[in-house]
Amino acid sequence: MLSLVWLRRDLRLHDNAALYHAFKSGRPVVPVFIFDRVILDELEDRRDRRVEFLVQEINRLHDELAKMGSTLIVRYGKPVDVWKELIGQYNIGDVFANHDYEVYAKERDKAIGELLTEHSIGFHTSKDQTIFERDEVLTGKKTPYTVFTPYSRKWREKLNDFYLKPYPTGNYFSQFWKTNPEKIPTLKEMDFQPVGEPFPARTVPDTLLDTYRKTRDFPALPHSTSELSMHLRFGTVSVRELARQASEADEKTYLNELCWRDFYFQVLDHFPHVEKHSFRRTYDEIEWRNNEDEFEKWCEGQTGYPIVDAGMRQLNTIGWMHNRVRMITASFLCKHLLIDWRWGEAYFGKKLRDYDLSANNGGWQWAAGSGTDAAPYFRVFNPTLQARKFDPKAEYIHYWVPEVDSPDYPKPMVEHTMARQRAIDTYRKALAKV
Ligand code: FAD
Repeated sequence: MLSLVWLRRDLRLHDNAALYHAFKSGRPVVPVFIFDRVILDELEDRRDRRVEFLVQEINRLHDELAKMGSTLIVRYGKPVDVWKELIGQYNIGDVFANHDYEVYAKERDKAIGELLTEHSIGFHTSKDQTIFERDEVLTGKKTPYTVFTPYSRKWREKLNDFYLKPYPTGNYFSQFWKTNPEKIPTLKEMDFQPVGEPFPARTVPDTLLDTYRKTRDFPALPHSTSELSMHLRFGTVSVRELARQASEADEKTYLNELCWRDFYFQVLDHFPHVEKHSFRRTYDEIEWRNNEDEFEKWCEGQTGYPIVDAGMRQLNTIGWMHNRVRMITASFLCKHLLIDWRWGEAYFGKKLRDYDLSANNGGWQWAAGSGTDAAPYFRVFNPTLQARKFDPKAEYIHYWVPEVDSPDYPKPMVEHTMARQRAIDTYRKALAKV
């Protein structure tokens, strides 16, 4: 009888909670990965960096396991259908997986858990992709935090070596099921094509933790941030390992970013309505202008605001945007153009190689002012001042918008002072309704 480990957002054999617990079952262990058609069939662009990355990483894991005389079982299909097939094909004792906090994922896991139980197979899940999850960091009244600063204080108080300890899975690798390597579906077989650009390195750049605090807000500086978001998204690095490194280097700012990540996971887990609605419901009353031509200009990086255009072009070209510029572009869409934050959220969702529903939704609701921990609605980013402060030599701008000084470059599509006042008036009107 086998123990199966269902890998999803935890594509690594080292320091993996579910894999560790599978080894502890004492049975031969074999990992499974499903290319989920419920998700993949929805992707319009068949040149998708995330799918390409998944295929690359699945092949890497497959090779690692083949070297140990084992395999990764890989299927392409809808999880319920795949699991029915696996139950028929293998003699499974238990299935192990790590928690996933998105609405779709929670429903999927519930359905698979029920299916496995019907066949007398145990389904065991563990925390792995966060340092603290759901109810581990609560207020004194045992309610979830909705404001980041007190959450982060409690998070830091609670943090100790126990929570950062790696799961020593490497000690058990001889327990992988001995079998011939199975075939893996290719990108082409799943009707995708490669983008063909390299992905960011898996490790923290050497000196980053010494400089991060000072560099992180300046998008023109090379490696001003870790660029590990894609690896964290797919679990190709362990968040415990990064938090341990930051903790050992006493790099509180970096640790704080990992705390934001946990914060937004627990917001999504506790308040799943954020996936479709404003966290603060009154913000659903805002009368967005939703002008489609203006949205198009924003998407294409043709707004006439150089820092906004630079950010959007970076996103469109490499599938990643610097955090400071994510804040500026998002704020510009919601406030200057009065376009529903959900439009921008969906656009980022299509383009970001590190797309993560919780962080993306949290970032967008923060920019729109509709979320947890929002700045007052009358605070509107001025994109020109932001550029002056965070890209003082306009290096980032010139890199992504080389024609910025030429007459061909568009004039600002909206005047700042007018747009600012229009946003404030529109927000005020919506909030006055309740
Ligand atoms: P670093 O600065 O090196 O930070 C280290 C890690 O901390 C990141 O890899 C990330 O996992 C986490 N982190 C950092 N900042 C945040 C944050 N504000 N919220 C949550 N986690 C954070 N991050 C995503 O991972 N996926 C998204 O889809 C996403 N969408 C965003 C949308 C908007 C509008 C905004 C304002 C922010 C968004 N972020 C998102 C957060 C942040 O911009 C990225 O995590 C960061 O830019 C990734 O680059 P990095 O790995 O170099 O970050």
